[in-house]
Amino acid sequence: MKVAKNYVNDFLHLFFPHLCIGCGSDILNTQDILCAKCIDDLPVTGFIAAMGNPVEKIFYGRINIQRAGSAFYFTKNSVMQHAIIQLKYKNNKPAGIFLGKLLGWQIAQSTRFDDVDLIVPVPLNDKKFYKRGYNQAEIIAKGIASIWHRPVAANVVERVLFTETQTHKNRVDRWKTMEGVFTVSQPEAIANKHILLVDDVITTGSTLEACGQTILKIPGIKLSIATLAYTI
Ligand SMILES: [Zn+2]
Repeated sequence: MKVAKNYVNDFLHLFFPHLCIGCGSDILNTQDILCAKCIDDLPVTGFIAAMGNPVEKIFYGRINIQRAGSAFYFTKNSVMQHAIIQLKYKNNKPAGIFLGKLLGWQIAQSTRFDDVDLIVPVPLNDKKFYKRGYNQAEIIAKGIASIWHRPVAANVVERVLFTETQTHKNRVDRWKTMEGVFTVSQPEAIANKHILLVDDVITTGSTLEACGQTILKIPGIKLSIATLAYTI
């Protein structure tokens, strides 16, 4: 079977050349979007394994979290930005699985998240969901789960209101517009569990804060947060 599968892959490769989105090299596995060299060159933050890292500090005094971290730095015109563009705007779901695996690998290497029970992706609003057809955070969550074996609960938290564009708002204004945006539709599914809330990129943390705030209302819940990338 493996030989047949490789044959099919080679055949597809002939017509759909599979290139590294970082450097254009064609020396990469079928499911991957980056070659080994470009993976090595990604800017790892080291936050996943580090207590008191900058992502945890974002939430100090805002919401009660157990652990938080991001796998990579996000900078403009970087390989990481290109990879995230593939996931969010080019309908490239395998890119999201691949990126989720990179994050999942870091989480699995660290022991800090070992007592997490369930992975919950930050839900998208309906407008974005229907435009894109999928939730990028859910794809990343699935990638994490393929490396680090925890169930993904994609529909226990929902986004109820459409938020206007937040570009020109300060943190307080953003928080106001985020209030009441999320709801837990299946509280019994997450009660007394340690949730890992997952998103693609963290900037101000206001979306994760609002979503986390809603989740923390459920009895006995513990909350941790992981994102693929961190904006400097
Ligand atoms: Zn490459």
